[in-house]
Amino acid sequence: MATRNCNFCGSQIEPGTGILFVRKDGNVMNFCSRKCEVNMIEMHRVPRRVRWTNEYHNIKEMKKQSTKN
Ligand SMILES: [Zn+2]
Repeated sequence: MATRNCNFCGSQIEPGTGILFVRKDGNVMNFCSRKCEVNMIEMHRVPRRVRWTNEYHNIKEMKKQSTKN
């Protein structure tokens, strides 16, 4: 079974763990934990604006590199 990535924080989800969330419109989302589910579904947060996600760190690193050059 292929490993999936969390739709919110971007970390890898081991098979047999995590949460599979299906929205009314049929969109399937994978979450590594309830924490990520709450942030995405109930709090409507954007991953690139939340400090502990992979996406935030990636954008931060890209900004660092662009300012160096
Ligand atoms: Zn997550």
